[in-house]
Amino acid sequence: MIAEYGFSAPAELGMTLEEVQTPCLVIDMSALEHNLKTMADQVVGMGVRLRVHAKAHKSVDIAKLQQVIGGACGICCQKVSEAEVFVRAGFRDVLITNEVRQPSKIDRMARLALGGARVLCCVDDLENVAELSEGASKYGVQIECLVEFDCGGGRCGVKSEDEVLKIAIAIEAARNLKFAGIQAYQGKAQHIQVYSERRDAIAISTAQVAEVKVHLETAGLSCDIVGGGGTGTFAFEGGSGVYNELQCGTYALMDADYNRVESAEGVCQPMFKNALFILTSVMSKTKRGIAVCDAGLKTHAVDSGLPKMFERTDVEFIHCADEHGAINDPQDKLCINDQLLLVPGHCDPTCNLHDFFVCMRDHKVEALWPISARGKLL
Ligand SMILES: *Cc1c(COP(=O)(O)O)cnc(C)c1O
Repeated sequence: MIAEYGFSAPAELGMTLEEVQTPCLVIDMSALEHNLKTMADQVVGMGVRLRVHAKAHKSVDIAKLQQVIGGACGICCQKVSEAEVFVRAGFRDVLITNEVRQPSKIDRMARLALGGARVLCCVDDLENVAELSEGASKYGVQIECLVEFDCGGGRCGVKSEDEVLKIAIAIEAARNLKFAGIQAYQGKAQHIQVYSERRDAIAISTAQVAEVKVHLETAGLSCDIVGGGGTGTFAFEGGSGVYNELQCGTYALMDADYNRVESAEGVCQPMFKNALFILTSVMSKTKRGIAVCDAGLKTHAVDSGLPKMFERTDVEFIHCADEHGAINDPQDKLCINDQLLLVPGHCDPTCNLHDFFVCMRDHKVEALWPISARGKLL
């Protein structure tokens, strides 16, 4: 493995955790498998499809596992460049949950469908319909379009059912495009900690989406896909009878921010286990009460809060600089080269910083997975 990837690889197969170079990302394979199977059971129970969001992990290997044991019917990507990685790796059904506007990107997206993959994207502007139609016609391929409805996220998407209908009719009439349904992701509701508040937010958005759907059907347009939902709210969209495709991403790996989101019983996300960790080691211990580790801002994202110590309360991650992490160590327990497992605050931008996942099972490195779509910004 080292030979294959050069010296930048943090580990070799068969190594124990103590032998792995830090800082790096570690996956607990049995926790990952638990999460994928749990979600697969959930969607079967609700009678909806699961189109996993690959932006969370950006890994071809995880997405494949999501299809094989995780019940996924296809994947979501956020960028054309991400979609290119997954289509080239053999994925046949890829939704870009975003608007695609630059002519060069529309061109690249159209080319993705050349090999026969089903390619979908979101639209929230009438003018985009002609642009997409031209791009798809150039290559003689079909692009399927979901009209994005802003159901409370306040990001992309149109706000009224009439606007949705207008765009949907234009898509249906456009050469080489197909109207595929509604994209309605309530991103803001995902991390509402209190269960009843989260449920109420989705009740409001789902009622709006239901009206949009009926409005389209009244005009003779049926929705193959009504998509949305994430790790925090999927049970509400999935049980609504309105949505038929869920787009959960974080559930596979989990992070500290989602650990704070409470279930109906008032406990913090017991359904999914922490499968992703930053492995860091202590590199300086010169002061009482403080240790310094090698996991800084270039190792993990702190936009959703600092990382949490995994299954340890005697020490705490308290501060982050470029390449250093400060750890509160009141009993001065930590020594040089002691390893710590941190649960990242926010998994998506953390994964994007690394080249590899070091996959552990039974205390041994089982696999080294490249983070296939890391850094894909275009
Ligand atoms: C990020 C994202 C998701 C997945 O959300 P998680 O909270 O990671 O499960 C779903 N849909 C869209 C459109 C997203 O951008």
